[in-house]
Amino acid sequence: NSPDDEAKLMKAKEAIRNARELFEKERGEEKQQVHLVIIGHVDAGKSTMMGHLLYDLGNVPQRVMHKYEQESKKIGKQSFMYAWILDETGEERTRGITMDCGFQRFETPTKQITLLDAPGHRDFIPNMICGATQADCSILVVDATRGEFETGFEQGGQTREHALLVRSLGVSQICVAVNKLDNENWSKDRFDDIVGKLKIFLKQAGFKESDVTYIPCSGLTGENLVKPASVKELTMWYNGPTLLNVVDNFKTPERSIDKAFRMSVSDVYKGLTSGFCLSGRIASGHVCVNDKIIVCPSKELGQVKNLTIDEMPVNAAFAGDQVSVTLSGVDASNVSIGSILSDVNNPVPLATKIQVRIIVFNVKTPITIGYPVLLHHHSLVEPATVSKLKAQLHKGTGEVIKKNPRVLGNNSCALIELSFQRPIAIERYSDLKEMGRVMLRVGGVTIAAGLVTDIVNS
Ligand code: GDP
Repeated sequence: NSPDDEAKLMKAKEAIRNARELFEKERGEEKQQVHLVIIGHVDAGKSTMMGHLLYDLGNVPQRVMHKYEQESKKIGKQSFMYAWILDETGEERTRGITMDCGFQRFETPTKQITLLDAPGHRDFIPNMICGATQADCSILVVDATRGEFETGFEQGGQTREHALLVRSLGVSQICVAVNKLDNENWSKDRFDDIVGKLKIFLKQAGFKESDVTYIPCSGLTGENLVKPASVKELTMWYNGPTLLNVVDNFKTPERSIDKAFRMSVSDVYKGLTSGFCLSGRIASGHVCVNDKIIVCPSKELGQVKNLTIDEMPVNAAFAGDQVSVTLSGVDASNVSIGSILSDVNNPVPLATKIQVRIIVFNVKTPITIGYPVLLHHHSLVEPATVSKLKAQLHKGTGEVIKKNPRVLGNNSCALIELSFQRPIAIERYSDLKEMGRVMLRVGGVTIAAGLVTDIVNS
């Protein structure tokens, strides 16, 4: 690139940023956006905590909360009243446009938080993984109750599995909520004991100590979620941040708005007036009404006729936005859930073979060459075959432990090659992190997740 080109590029980028700021102001969205995923062992109290947080933030009308209280009392399950907040909104969500991952929003003083996969259900793990592939930050909920923390933290417990998973998907900031400390009479010793164990583990898992914050709390009583700690047993030794403070202080990730436009299609439906509509999240770049786009992998050219966010028409939308797009010039048979809309001048690469760094869990039979899997990439679900096992890696440092291993078992980290029958639209994580995270599933179970390290054949 000549200095002239560089200067032009810089100018163009600045223009995009300015435009985005303007649009955000227009839409009244001056707060920074963060995507948050809640992880932790089953019954750690994830739903209760998030439900209570939403309630304390005023996101749940009083009469609705009253209804939950009455109903949960009636069936003798009052302890679940906050968890129901997430369940109910979960149902509501499915009425509207189906997202590849359901979400809930709430605000902190400086941020707008999108909660990925409101954890209201037992089959939460696959959803959590779906959420983790889009997350910027994470809350790890652990149950401080004696015996319970230990169960979740054992080999195979979800505490470890989830933490390794989000880290391997590029999430670096984490808030550890040492929950249900009310059950332990707010014991400092118990808190310190748990923090000590997690510190060692999270460091091994590749989290920087400065990116991890530990807080004592109770999702049930609401202690230290939104309002600072008030019970004497806790205030005696704790005056640190609340859950809300920690979330508000998460560093905002760089959104790839300067990069080429990519949007993954999570739903296709008939438009109200004409043409057909696609919805999905813009992974990178921006798009304007009248822009020409290319649908990948079908390489169909089209033009944006209409753009809406939350059913409001807009002229432009940017990385991170969940949008509906009406297209013209595109044959509906060439677009499907999982397609990627991209910049005509800089389309997303197509690949029939990719190299992926994965972390393995839940495999009944160890992974060997020829192992069939389903690749999940945004909303795309595509059959793939493990065509090479290149190396087994150290989970924390990523160093090669063994070259060309014959098999990969649970909890291993490895570099593998995946092959596809037909090209898919995908990118290296190092080129565009939003397009380079994948997960692998077999028979409805997620067996691995990871990052695309190379496009072997495009
Ligand atoms: P999830 O599976 O992680 O979403 O957990 P839930 O939110 O469904 O909670 C599991 C159980 O733990 C329920 O019976 C809750 O009432 C209870 N629970 C959740 N948070 C707390 C807490 O802070 N203290 C106590 N004592 N119980 C809690």
